[in-house]
Amino acid sequence: MYEGPVQDLIDELGRLPGVGPKSAQRIAFHLLKVEAADAERLAMAIHEVKARVHFCRNCWNVAEGDTCRICKDPRRDATLVCVVEEPRDLVAIEKTREFHGIREVIIATNPNVEGEATAMYLARLLAPLGVRVTRLASGLPVGGDLEYADEITLGRAFAGRRDMGV
Ligand SMILES: [Zn+2]
Repeated sequence: MYEGPVQDLIDELGRLPGVGPKSAQRIAFHLLKVEAADAERLAMAIHEVKARVHFCRNCWNVAEGDTCRICKDPRRDATLVCVVEEPRDLVAIEKTREFHGIREVIIATNPNVEGEATAMYLARLLAPLGVRVTRLASGLPVGGDLEYADEITLGRAFAGRRDMGV
């Protein structure tokens, strides 16, 4: 146990995903050593993201206003929807530059059991609407997360997406 504020910082850092007690302690002591301005910048970035960033009312991507920059972009085809699990997956898809437009819903959930089950569920819900429903092709590692796939693998999977046959 450390002095009150130090222990409070360790406790807060330890609540972050992927940060265990030892990492929390290491980060806390790093912050104690850095210049005050550097620590203030981190505190301000956390404050600003909580004060200014919300979830897009159309698609749940992160957004500074009501809608995200993708939904505001008039060059985007609103008849094509790509479904991902998390906003960071959206960034991975955007990097492939394979996202173009037709009347289709691309289901880009993670290639694991949960992602497959979600994809099947969504495909069944969308079937009565008469839109083309596709799923990313294989090439992505099964059991993995999209955010860890390299751009080429993800791009090939995107280009080779297949109909789900529902
Ligand atoms: Zn949006």
